[in-house]
Amino acid sequence: MKPPVRIVVIGATGSVGSSVLDVCRTYPEYFSVVGIAAHSSADSLHRLAREFSCKAVCLSDPGSAAMFRTFAGNSISCLEGAEGLLRLSELPDADHVVFASSGTAAIPALIRALETGKDVSLANKESILVAAPWVLPKVSRKDQIRPLDSEHNAIWQCLRSESPESVNRLILTASGGPFRTYSREQLSCVTPEDAIRHPVWSMGTKISVDSATMMNKGIEIIEASLLFSMPIDRVEAILSPGSFAHGIVEFCDGTMKIAACAPDMRLPSLVALSFPDRLPLRFPSLKTETLHGRTIPFEEPDPIRFPSLTIAKEAGRRGGAYPSLLVGADESAVECFLNRQLAFTDIPVVVDRTLEAYSGPAPKSLEEAVALVGLGRECCRRFCVR
Ligand code: NDP
Ligand code: MG
Repeated sequence: MKPPVRIVVIGATGSVGSSVLDVCRTYPEYFSVVGIAAHSSADSLHRLAREFSCKAVCLSDPGSAAMFRTFAGNSISCLEGAEGLLRLSELPDADHVVFASSGTAAIPALIRALETGKDVSLANKESILVAAPWVLPKVSRKDQIRPLDSEHNAIWQCLRSESPESVNRLILTASGGPFRTYSREQLSCVTPEDAIRHPVWSMGTKISVDSATMMNKGIEIIEASLLFSMPIDRVEAILSPGSFAHGIVEFCDGTMKIAACAPDMRLPSLVALSFPDRLPLRFPSLKTETLHGRTIPFEEPDPIRFPSLTIAKEAGRRGGAYPSLLVGADESAVECFLNRQLAFTDIPVVVDRTLEAYSGPAPKSLEEAVALVGLGRECCRRFCVR
């Protein structure tokens, strides 16, 4: 038997991070967690560090790191800030780094993990939308980046041992979120509480709202186009309520491969961590999944009720500054909606306005690309609070 893969999880206290850690907890002879990071959740990180006997942790917020050291004393080394994330991602005794944090803070750490030859599992969408030109050239071998997002993980599995020239189209499925059947009038009065109650997935707050507007699917289309080097007009979205089918690849000979599994982030996490092997399923609740009596419905998304998909796709088509501006604008719009300063149906309106207001150049460095996220955030906030 191989020695356990030594894993670092950045974003360990979040929704995806918890799924990844549950895989590690359930397969202890295959995976050992050597480092974990979060932003400010010192208490939860301490509990997890003790559970997994981690050698190192990082809290990017220095005040929270100081608090961690008061509970933990010298027993666990606690790094802090952006430098701490870099050090954790290059730990000599780690083989694999999982990027499951939100936002752009871990992009330099992702680049460092790739440069130091680690395998990487990637959930964080911002890294690819904002920083693909600086991240992707650091990939030094096939499958060094393993996508964790369920749709990208499904497409990645469908593409295994296929030649890129034989691929016609990539199709990402979308659950349609909690408002799939709502009219425009109903959509205009939904509340934050309604929006974060996703019918299928249990996720962080921001991505739950993105899923309800379908901005998430637009962001995922850009991400898939960049990750799999596919022109954006050959990446599509289709609704598949129930989220059993996650991704579809159409090949030139008319064959379509569909990857399907229960909607549970532990499954793509298990596939990514154990690649190229496959491990027998140990999650009893998921063993009852069966094809018998199951239908896999597909519907076209409605661009009138859910314009975010079109707006995001256009930002991806324009490229340059636009994906970064989209990330920042959407963060602000979602935050204002959650604070009840913006109606749900105005989220795409203010994001689109932000993109249309920009006439500057494309970023020439990672720093400029990250600054554009901030510009998108600021500009959109002004449209929100008018
Ligand atoms: P959550 O909000 O649930 O968790 C975010 C995690 O990131 C927390 O651990 C948080 O720490 C940490 N974090 C935030 N900022 C920093 C920082 N500056 N430095 C270090 N850690 C930080 O988010 P999700 O798990 O929902 O999503 C995480 C990412 O994965 C996003 O990019 C999302 O789009 C993507 N994704 C999510 C999926 C899902 O099912 N939820 C599916 C596919 C992709 P703290 O607790 O201290 O704040
Ligand atoms: Mg997804």
